[in-house]
Amino acid sequence: MNDKTAVYVCSGCAIGEAVDAEALVALAEEEFKPARAISHEFLCGDEGLAMIGTDLAGEGEIEKVVVCACSPRVMADRFRFDGAQVVRGNLREQVAWCHEPGDEDTQMKAADNLRMAVTQALKSEPPEPDTEAPISRRLLVVGGGSTGLAAAREAARAGYESVLVEQSSELGGHAKGFSKFLPQRPPYRTPEANNIAELIAEVEADQRITVKTATKVASTAGGPGDFRVTLANGTAQSDESFGAIVVATGWRPYDAGKLGHLGYGNPGVVTNVELEGLLASGGTSAKAVAFIQCAGSRDPEHLPYCSQVCCGVSIKQALQLRQADPETMIYVIFDELRTPGTAEEFYRAAQEAGIVFMKGKISSVAADLTVTVNDALLGEEVPLGGLDMVVLATGMVPNATTDGALLPDPDIDPLAPIFRAGDEAADEEETPDESTTDSDDDESVALDAPRPENSILNLQYRQGPHLPHLADGFADSHFICFPYETRRTGIYACGPLRRPMDMGEAAEDAAGAVLKAIQAIEQASRAAAVHPRVGDLSYPKFGLDTCTKCRRCTVECPFGAIDENAEGFPVLTNTRCRRCGTCMGACPVRTISFDNYSVEMVNSMSKAVEIPDEFDEKPRVLVLACENDAYPALDKAGIQGRKYSSMARIIPVRCLGSVSLVMISDALSSGYDGVILMGCKSGDDYQCHFVKGSAIAKERVSKIEETLKSMMLEGERVASHEVAITDAAGATQIIDDFVASIDEIGMNPFKGF
Ligand code: SF4
Ligand code: SF4
Repeated sequence: MNDKTAVYVCSGCAIGEAVDAEALVALAEEEFKPARAISHEFLCGDEGLAMIGTDLAGEGEIEKVVVCACSPRVMADRFRFDGAQVVRGNLREQVAWCHEPGDEDTQMKAADNLRMAVTQALKSEPPEPDTEAPISRRLLVVGGGSTGLAAAREAARAGYESVLVEQSSELGGHAKGFSKFLPQRPPYRTPEANNIAELIAEVEADQRITVKTATKVASTAGGPGDFRVTLANGTAQSDESFGAIVVATGWRPYDAGKLGHLGYGNPGVVTNVELEGLLASGGTSAKAVAFIQCAGSRDPEHLPYCSQVCCGVSIKQALQLRQADPETMIYVIFDELRTPGTAEEFYRAAQEAGIVFMKGKISSVAADLTVTVNDALLGEEVPLGGLDMVVLATGMVPNATTDGALLPDPDIDPLAPIFRAGDEAADEEETPDESTTDSDDDESVALDAPRPENSILNLQYRQGPHLPHLADGFADSHFICFPYETRRTGIYACGPLRRPMDMGEAAEDAAGAVLKAIQAIEQASRAAAVHPRVGDLSYPKFGLDTCTKCRRCTVECPFGAIDENAEGFPVLTNTRCRRCGTCMGACPVRTISFDNYSVEMVNSMSKAVEIPDEFDEKPRVLVLACENDAYPALDKAGIQGRKYSSMARIIPVRCLGSVSLVMISDALSSGYDGVILMGCKSGDDYQCHFVKGSAIAKERVSKIEETLKSMMLEGERVASHEVAITDAAGATQIIDDFVASIDEIGMNPFKGF
C-alpha cells in the first residue's frame, strides 16, 4: 500500500486512442496499491488539475503525484503542486505518438512507462535545499579594458555592485592606444572616434563600481554566492566576498617576431597594432602601403583560427591613411576577406575610396619592401614595388594567464587526467586501494602547494588554479547553449578571452556574461542550480562511511565542485555543483546519490519493467537517454509521428556521465536483451551539457566488455551513441538498428532468472 502516492493517467492528446487508459489505472491499483489511481481525459486542463489539487488537499496526506501523460519536458508549470513531489510518466510523445494505436506492444510499453514512473516516485524524495550558505550579491570583474569596463557598467545598470580589478596602473586596455574605432552605428562606413575615455569616466563616476588598478587576484576560493577572493595591490592584501566573477582579461597581439617570413623585423614592416600607435600619435608619411591579411591567423603553423577583427581593422586603417592623404596608394592583400554583417558596408566604403583589394597569397616580402603576391585572379606572381610601409594584420591571442603564457595542453582534453593518482584509480575496475591516494606520482594540486604566478584567478580548487580552456587558450564555453559559461560554476568569461571579437561585440558579450553572473548569484541564493538543470534544488550526498577515498568523484566532476578534506574524503561546495551526477556514475562503491536521483532509483525503474519470456519473441532494450539532447530527440520523434520499435524502454538520465556500470550490468542480469546509452555529441566544441558525459560513457562502455564476458554475454549487447537534439530520425534509427541486431544475436539467456 502506497498511501502517500496518487497515480493519474491522462487519456487526452490521442493517448486514449492508442492505449487502454482504464487498464493502466487497474494495473497501477493492482501492482502499487496507491492512495488513488484515476484516469482523466484532459489532465492538464483546469478540471484535471483541480481534481489533483483536491486530492492533495484531502485527508489522505498524498505527498507524491505520478502524472502519466505528456513528456516530462512539457507542462511542468501546469503539473506543479506546492508541497507535493511530482513524477511524470511519458505516455504521449514516447508511446501514443510513436507506436501503433491499439497494438499489444504499445499497451505493454505504456504499462512499463507507468511502472517506471511510480517506481521513480517511490524510490526518490523531494530534494531539501541547502540554504545555509552566505550570499554576496557583488560581482568581481577581472580586467579593466573595454570589455571589463562594459561589464562593470552593465552590472551597475542592472542594479548590482561590482569591483573592477585591473592589473596595470590604468583602465582602458588596448583601446586606450587606438586612434579610432571600427564603426558601431549606421551607416557603418567611417571609422568612429575613440570614446574609451568617456566609458572610463562613466565607470569611475558610478557609485556602484569600485575600481582597483594595479591589483591582482591572489586567490579565489568558495563558490557562487560566496567566492572568497584575496585581492593584492603590491604587498597590501584585502579579503572580499563576491557572488559571481566575470573574467574579461582580453587579448594580446600574436607575436610578430614569429612572422619573419612576412618581413617582420625589416624597417618599414609594422603590425596593425604598431600602425594604430602611429595613427594615434600623428600618422605616417608613407605614400604606398600594403596590408597583408591573416598574418599568422588561419595558419596551422601559427594561429589555426580566424582572428575575426583584422580585416575590419585593416580597412579602417586604410581609410584613415587615405583620409589623411588621398594620394596614398594602398593595397589590401587577402586570401579571404571576412567582413560579415555590417562590416560589408565598411568594405564597400573602402573600395569606393580607391583602396585596392588583391586576392592572393604572399610569396615573399623582400628587404626593400617589395611584396610578391601569387594573384588568385591573374594566376601569376605579381610584385608590388615602391612600397614604403608593409602592415601585417596580426591576430588575437587570448589572455588566459596574466603573462600571456598558454596553459598546458592537458586542459584541452576534457578527459585528460588532472590527478595522476586519481586517474589510475579511475582506470581500475576494482575498488581502488587507499594507498593510491598516497602515491609518489600524485600530481594533484595540493592546496598548500606553491601557486603559479600567472594564474588569473588563482583558484584554490583541488582541480587546479586556472580556468579550464578549449583549444588555443580560449576560455571554455558551450558554444551552442551556454556561451559565457566556464567549467567553473559562477565564473563567466567574455570578450576576446572567449573568442576573437571586436569591441562592439565584446561590449554585448560583457552584458551577456554579467546577466549570467547575476543569474548565478540569484540561483545560489535559493540553493538552486544554474543551467542546464536550472532551479534544481538537489545536490549529491556522500556516504562517507563507505567511501574509499579513491578520488574518482573529485577527478571526474567536470566543474571542480569537489575538494577533499585533510583525511582525503570528498567535500562538496554545493553552489559549484551543476547536479549532473557524473560523480555518482564514477563512484565505484555507489555511495553518492541525490534525494531524487540515485543508482538505486534508476536500477529499480529498469527492474520495474515486465520482461517477457524468452519464447514471446519480444526483446527488451533499455535506453538510458540523456535528458538534454537524446531524450528530447526521442520526444521529437513522437511529435513528428515517427514510428520506431516499441521494444525499447527509455529512462531519462541527467547526463551519461551519471550512468554507473552497475546500471548496465543489473539491467542485463534482469533479462534486458541489450542496453543503449544515448548522449549528446562530444568533442572540442562539445554539445555535451556537462562537458564530458558522452566521452565518459564511451570510456566506461569500453570497459564493460570484461563484465559481459564474465556473464557469457556478447559485447554487442551494450552500445553508446551520440545524438543531437534535432536528430529525431537518427535517434529512432539507433533504436531500430539495435533491436534488429538483438534479433540476430538472440535473446538474453538471463531471462527468467
Ligand atoms: S553532480 Fe556533477 S557537478 Fe555536482 S559534484 Fe557531482 S559531478 Fe560535480
Ligand atoms: S565518494 Fe566514491 S568516488 Fe568519491 S572518493 Fe569516495 S569512494 Fe571514491
